[in-house]
Amino acid sequence: MVRPMTDEDLRTRKATVTLADGRELMYFGAIPERPADYPDLRQLDAVHVQSQARWDRLLGEWVVIAGHRQDRTFQPADDQCPLCPSTAGSRTEIPAPQYEVVVFENRFPTLKTAQAATGGADQPNGAAWDPAAPASGSAPPEAGRQHSLLASRPAAGRCEVVCFSQRHTASFADLSPGQAATVMAAWADRSAELAGQPGVEQVYCFENRGAEIGVTLSHPHGQIYAYPFVTPRTDRMLASCASYRRETGSNLFDDLLAAEEADSSRIVLRGTHWMAFVPFAAHWPYEVHMYPRRRVPGLVALTGAARAEFCELYLDLLRRFDRLFDRPAPYISAWHQTPVRRGGDDFALHLELFTVMRAPGKLKYLAGSESGMGAFANDITPETAADRLRQLG
Ligand SMILES: [Zn+2]
Repeated sequence: MVRPMTDEDLRTRKATVTLADGRELMYFGAIPERPADYPDLRQLDAVHVQSQARWDRLLGEWVVIAGHRQDRTFQPADDQCPLCPSTAGSRTEIPAPQYEVVVFENRFPTLKTAQAATGGADQPNGAAWDPAAPASGSAPPEAGRQHSLLASRPAAGRCEVVCFSQRHTASFADLSPGQAATVMAAWADRSAELAGQPGVEQVYCFENRGAEIGVTLSHPHGQIYAYPFVTPRTDRMLASCASYRRETGSNLFDDLLAAEEADSSRIVLRGTHWMAFVPFAAHWPYEVHMYPRRRVPGLVALTGAARAEFCELYLDLLRRFDRLFDRPAPYISAWHQTPVRRGGDDFALHLELFTVMRAPGKLKYLAGSESGMGAFANDITPETAADRLRQLG
């Protein structure tokens, strides 16, 4: 289904239905004519989620404890894939017999839906959660202060699954620009809607690809997390931005982008609206950051032209990653967006793409230095990685 991108792609159609256990599912793009004609016919028990966010007092960050996820579906046979469209003989998560892009609430979420988490049952140790307390990565809940060494709160939020294609064996890199635009429209739609839900502080769209990353389903899909706090990495970036602004009066993202452009040795792709480069201090063997040239806070703020060019450049980049090794590259692709209530003036939407592979058959393990101390050591110079990625075009 290769077709040119049209204006219609940027005003993507959407239809929402309810699954047998009450979860929401949304069709995007070429949706079934009458989605209600395809009800979820499965017998499903209600989703049972017990998630808790615990405050790590030493590191100043939240950790989500989600013990219920040990039972989730793990590497099912291809004909049991829960992300393929339903057929008469196989009822999956997607009731319709075909779809373009689908988003639905994860049946095995790390975070529980905000509505279900407002009760008092998840506040052990007397450290009750005050919904009015700041939810940043650096600020524990005020109400838990007297017990703040052992503070916790319900891990309220939402976890969604994004199916990029109905084709089980496809990958994101196989999509046409028009299909990729439908995924982008779904990301933007979800980012806006989830940011408006009670208690949500940050929306994170991402893709884990490959068994090496720990992906439990091979069907092409990504995920969206709506966190009840600002994540540790975003919190650190916001702090860097704030101190840089105090020192220089400038925006750190703008100046970094200008510095990379002026240096140019690590640039992989240059577009009218986007720039893709290996960062100066790359943590991973092959790591590329994509920034819109005009700083925007999130996916919703991108113009149609910027979205369209992103799809072209991103697909190009993913295909280069797949040519790096003698097999499809395992990767993590992470959208960084401005949190809901912090960083609006300074933060810059960008995508960070990296692979954990450093050579055919050789994985970069997060070992003693990285996992034990958080100190990364990268065996490939960022300039070499950028040169290699440029040549793979
Ligand atoms: Zn599948």
